[in-house]
Amino acid sequence: MALVVQKYGGSSVADADGIKRVAQRIVGTRKAGHSVVVVVSAMGDTTDELRDLADQVSPAPPGRELDMLLTAGERISMALLAMAIANLGLEGRSFTGSQAGVITDSAHGRARIIDITPGRIQAALEDGAIPIVAGFQGVSQTTKDITTLGRGASDTTAVALAAALGADYCEIYTDVDGVFTADPRLVPGARQLPRISYEEMLEMAACGAKVLMLRCVEYARRYKIPIHVRSSFSNSEGTWVTDAVAAEGEAMEQAIISGIAQDTKEAKITIVGVPDKVGEAARIFRVIADSGINIDMIVQNISAAATGRTDISFTLPRDDGHHAMAKLRRLQEEVGFDSLLYDDRIGKVSLVGAGMRSHPGVSATFFGALAEAGVNIEMISTSEIRISVVVDQNDVPLAVTAAHDAFDLGDGGETAVVYGGTGR
Ligand code: ADP
Ligand code: ASP
Ligand code: MG
Repeated sequence: MALVVQKYGGSSVADADGIKRVAQRIVGTRKAGHSVVVVVSAMGDTTDELRDLADQVSPAPPGRELDMLLTAGERISMALLAMAIANLGLEGRSFTGSQAGVITDSAHGRARIIDITPGRIQAALEDGAIPIVAGFQGVSQTTKDITTLGRGASDTTAVALAAALGADYCEIYTDVDGVFTADPRLVPGARQLPRISYEEMLEMAACGAKVLMLRCVEYARRYKIPIHVRSSFSNSEGTWVTDAVAAEGEAMEQAIISGIAQDTKEAKITIVGVPDKVGEAARIFRVIADSGINIDMIVQNISAAATGRTDISFTLPRDDGHHAMAKLRRLQEEVGFDSLLYDDRIGKVSLVGAGMRSHPGVSATFFGALAEAGVNIEMISTSEIRISVVVDQNDVPLAVTAAHDAFDLGDGGETAVVYGGTGR
């Protein structure tokens, strides 16, 4: 019999009925003879609501206090879930991230897990209880303060716990039936994938497919934890995220495109008129890096012969946009560039597929589909198994649908079901 870690997302525990439904499923897993450890997210949109509340009392809430506030969301759901399980005759025992041994660094809002010491979880299992762990939170090794691991990080808590406990696999329960060829909220004709490799899921997650958090997939790949993404609202088989091994009887031929992801949480900064000299780009990006900002795409134009100057554009998380602009303004005199432009009305659309390695013409088909849909491309970047474009934010739904059609990714029949959630 297996040891399973089950993670339930916010939409699965959005209200009392949801919590009771999830409790039934957990008890069912135990009755089937498996050991189960549960990780739970905050109810519905609680985290966003708490965040909004913080913004109402302060324009820049201190990170320590913000984490203290946001972690309250998961404490509510873990206790309620333990009560609902008790009502079904088994013992649910709730644990905060700190009690569960999730040790992190001290970067509030985006802490990284350093170690997991799940002694109390193991003891609860030995007692025959069902441990319920609050997702998305830990405790700093140095300051002993409560930390959060970044938005969507209950996924990461679950996979990290699965690795630390030596679980057989990790189930991620959400509001859709699995990983689809595109976000089912945007493309109702998207097709569910029976399996996807860690490598492709990493690219999908990095490009904005929020069904799994990027770091959870990194963790799963490193520790070889199979992830089963499925719905808590149905009993259908979900999507397995594993190493790229073809299942028995399945064609070895790889799909050219596995899926399309969109990201509308980035902004674009253009530095106009940068002197075309050795070391200028290094100077600019050092300032951004030292602010702890992760940049994504970079494009540098060839310099105009007449002026010896060039333009550099890059994208970054929108939340970091104003901070980066402030840092760059301070650099203007030193580097001597002409001006800065800021655009937060952009969206990124990415095509992901391991099969594109060996198939020519993927870019041509993609760009052709965008042209036909009347979508203008502002930036392009590629990896071995991904092509991303930046477009106007309003064009994102059109671009995703056009690309989905051009590569014939739907199955033409069923409409993907979205069982819950607000898409926030
Ligand atoms: P949870 O609250 O369970 O963590 P999330 O909202 O974080 O759920 O993630 C699930 C959502 O991810 C879905 O409702 C869907 O809109 C979105 N999503 C984006 N891309 C995909 C995709 N390729 N396949 C499935 N879902 C996707
Ligand atoms: N509740 C947290 C969030 O909304 C963590 C999670 O849901 O995974 O980001
Ligand atoms: Mg999530």
